Amino acid sequence: MFIDVREILSGLIDSIEFDYTLAPPQGFNDISFPEEVHITGSIKNQAGYMTLNAQATVPYVTHCARCTKEISGVFEHAFMRPLATKLEQEDDDYLMIEHGGIDLDTPLLEDLVLSLDFAYLCKEDCKGLCFTCGHDLNDGDCGCANKKEIDPRLAILAKLLDN
Ligand SMILES: [Zn+2]
Ligand SMILES: [Zn+2]
Repeated sequence: MFIDVREILSGLIDSIEFDYTLAPPQGFNDISFPEEVHITGSIKNQAGYMTLNAQATVPYVTHCARCTKEISGVFEHAFMRPLATKLEQEDDDYLMIEHGGIDLDTPLLEDLVLSLDFAYLCKEDCKGLCFTCGHDLNDGDCGCANKKEIDPRLAILAKLLDN
């Protein structure tokens, strides 16, 4: 959303609150966002320094990296940036005020996407699937001798130790 900050710039008011929803980011292989992103926050002017504080609430669906079970949850992503009308030199930390306001969605979604993890687990101690038979080891032992993919380097070491 474009947030008009002209009234803060002119000193008429010293804060603006916002609360809106945004279409979720798309196009990821291993994680999806089934609902709209909810964004709330404010822009405050303190002695001439303008700061934006936003909180994005983002429902997500993904799969456990170990057992592939579907997991869903909600990210609470905090986004905070100083605002500037012009800078001596380019600085990505700042949100630039252009045409009397700022475009919040693009930088906020970029920041959100950068904060995503590469792997999620259904629970901290998920045991994963058996490498041999595919059994979900959270449901108990399958009886296979070899449940984990063996690192080829360790396999060589095991052979050496055997002799
Ligand atoms: Zn799992
Ligand atoms: Zn097994």
